[in-house]
Amino acid sequence: MRVLVVLVEDSEAVREALAAALRAAGYRVRPVGTGAAALEAVTGPAAAADPPDIVLLDLGLPDLDGVEVCRRLRARSAVPVIAVTARGHQQARVLGLRSGADDYVVKPFAIDELTARMEAVLRRTAGHVVAPVIVAGRLRIDLARRVVEVDGAEVTLRRKEFDLLAALARRDGAVVSRADLLDDVWGLPPDDPGREAGLHSLEVHVAALRSKLDAPGTVLTVRGVGYRLAAGG
Ligand code: CA
Repeated sequence: MRVLVVLVEDSEAVREALAAALRAAGYRVRPVGTGAAALEAVTGPAAAADPPDIVLLDLGLPDLDGVEVCRRLRARSAVPVIAVTARGHQQARVLGLRSGADDYVVKPFAIDELTARMEAVLRRTAGHVVAPVIVAGRLRIDLARRVVEVDGAEVTLRRKEFDLLAALARRDGAVVSRADLLDDVWGLPPDDPGREAGLHSLEVHVAALRSKLDAPGTVLTVRGVGYRLAAGG
C-alpha cells in the first residue's frame, strides 16, 4: 500500500500544489485545511478505516496553534509528524524543534527535500532500518539523524553542507567527481545550464565545510577531478 500523507495546510493554493506534487511523487494524500480537521483526519473514522502513515503539519494555522495540534496528535496517535514552518517566522527553527514533531521543514522547500525527509522519518519510526553511521577519522556522521560530530562535539551544518559531506562519506574515502556531486547534491545533471553557478556553490560549500569541521585535511581536493574524504582526518 502506498504511503498515506495527511497534509495540513490552510492556504488552499499551497495545499493543492503540494498535494499534486506529493501525488505525482507516488504518495496518497488526505488534504485538510484546519487543525481540527487534522485531528479528525488522524483519529476519526476515516483514520480507523485507512490509518495515515505520516502527517505534514503547517504550524501556522487559523483555528488552532500548530504546536498545540502537534501535541494533541502526539497524545492520541503514534503517527509521525513533520512540522512545516514559514521562513518569515522569526523562530521557525525553534518552533519546528519544540513542536515535538519528528522533523521539520522551513518554507519554501523543494518537493525532493520534503520527500527525502518524509522517507527518512518513515524509515526511522518504522524501526526496521538501523541508522547508518559513518566514522571517518575524527568525524562521526549519522546519516539518518543528520548529525555530525567532530571529536564527539556536534557541529551544525546547513542542509547542503551535510548532503555534500554525506555524499563524500558514502564513497568511503574514494574520490567523488564534481560532476557527480553536482548531480547528487545539487540535482544538476551534466547538461543543466545552472552548472556554472552550481560549481561555484560547490566550492563555497566545500570551504564552509572545511571551516566548520575544523579538522584540517578531512575534505581533500583531488585536482581536476573532485573531492574525497580522508579517513585519517
Ligand atoms: Ca499557514
